[in-house]
Amino acid sequence: MKKTKKFYEGKAKIMYETDKPDFVIQEFKDDATAFDATKRGTIKEKSVINNEISSALFQLLESKGIPTHFVKKLSDREMLVKRLDIILVEVTIRNISAGGLSKLLSIEEGIVLKSPLLEYHYKKDELHDPLINDYHIEMLGLATSKEMKKIRDYSFSINEILKDFFGKVGLKLVDFKLEFGRHKGKILLGDEISPDTCRLWDKKTNEKLDKDRFRRDLGRIEEAYQEVLKRIKS
Ligand code: 5GP
Repeated sequence: MKKTKKFYEGKAKIMYETDKPDFVIQEFKDDATAFDATKRGTIKEKSVINNEISSALFQLLESKGIPTHFVKKLSDREMLVKRLDIILVEVTIRNISAGGLSKLLSIEEGIVLKSPLLEYHYKKDELHDPLINDYHIEMLGLATSKEMKKIRDYSFSINEILKDFFGKVGLKLVDFKLEFGRHKGKILLGDEISPDTCRLWDKKTNEKLDKDRFRRDLGRIEEAYQEVLKRIKS
């Protein structure tokens, strides 16, 4: 498949068209941003690591019956994916309090939640991705209630699969963000799943092995991403 025109460049990825309209190439970048891109930097080899981690996790999810946009890993930094009409709702699932939840409700970090918490955020940078609910989604016409039911069911299933998978390699899945889109009338999981989009803590020490090392200037960022990859591959 031939890579043709660049049609989108975001904070962590570039998307290219191919000679087949239903397929696009997702290229990972080393750039890292946080706090609405007010903090910027690069994490060496992040693109290669996140491409490898995402590819492995998409394959795991596909093997468990979750439809994703993943087709195949093309190179160190590139992944071939199905073209999606992205739904502008970011789904966050939380198992342990941290980040946005701790701030919103003034809850200390690290409290294990009785059951997984699902949140929706409107994917709109200018508005700083505000927290929304099903009624806002309906009002804004972002997705139908049938689509949202599917998205909700997939998200909770993904949480169970990933919690179990990470648990076996000594990692706690604290929280993560998912994006979905439409492809030929079906809902598919899109974007990426990586230490950029998940909070992962070491089971024994609670050491943070994710993007919070960049957000909070904790150092050893690259090493943390490499550690997650190493465990996934173990
Ligand atoms: P929070 O709402 O606590 O900031 O984020 C919850 C989880 O979703 C974290 O694992 C975080 O990495 C991920 N997340 C939420 N929004 C974004 C986003 O815009 N970009 C990235 N990379 N991750 C996000």
